[in-house]
Amino acid sequence: MESLRGRLNRCSINTATLGHREPLAVTIDRIARAGFGGVAPWRHELDAANLQDIAKQIRALELTVTGYCRSTYFPAETAAERLAAIESNMRALQQAAEIGAQCFVLVVGGLPAGSRDLPVAREQVAEGIAALCDEAGRLGVRLAIEPLHPMYAADRSVINTIQQALMFCQTIEPDGTRVLGVAIDIYHCWWDPQLSESIQAAGEARRIFAYHVSDWLPNTRDMLLDRGMMGDGVVDLERIRNLVENAGYRGLVEVEIFSKERWWTTAPDEALQMCANRLQSVC
Ligand code: ZN
Repeated sequence: MESLRGRLNRCSINTATLGHREPLAVTIDRIARAGFGGVAPWRHELDAANLQDIAKQIRALELTVTGYCRSTYFPAETAAERLAAIESNMRALQQAAEIGAQCFVLVVGGLPAGSRDLPVAREQVAEGIAALCDEAGRLGVRLAIEPLHPMYAADRSVINTIQQALMFCQTIEPDGTRVLGVAIDIYHCWWDPQLSESIQAAGEARRIFAYHVSDWLPNTRDMLLDRGMMGDGVVDLERIRNLVENAGYRGLVEVEIFSKERWWTTAPDEALQMCANRLQSVC
């Protein structure tokens, strides 16, 4: 495995890492100026900006868009709400195509309010994803299912392991057109006893579309907003990148850190500098 030292062009910054404190155009400029080769923006940022201008800026800076975040949750109480979610995701696919995103990240949603029916929520997710595949294929935007840590099964994602995400891919798209794949985020899957087998299976199916890094802090104080900087937690990041790259992944390494108290209160350029340091030393 090649070191990332001197290879920030192989690294990307998910804009959530900077806490969404500035307009997207400013954030993109900072990321490019710091030497990173990629960026992964969020929908609410793009909605607040001019889509064509942002697309032009990204092209001019020659940044790779490693992902566009993220889907509207699929499961819902009523059919009308589920349809609205699909339509919302269709609109996002067009934006993703416009900015040349390598994938649209699917965070699929948890249980509908008041529901205890996990199997039905998972069926609704499968239906929702299936409804996007043709349009995604037409636009040339790949769909990356991001399994989330099981602590989010109730409210954010009923897909919780890479293996499970692959089963959705295989069921919805068995023919190998490969619109559907997975985003592997170490924060969500580092604990998985099947990690190495699952990564290998994802690679063999040519379905690894993105790779996200941060770190797991053993004394985490917030389920959502206390991710660690790479190297500050307990995850063997080099080992996992090795698994992902041995499985055939050749894309960028994307940093995605939600950190309300620590990194979102640090000056953006300083946070980027720390990302650069850690990418080159512990990832
Ligand atoms: Zn992620």
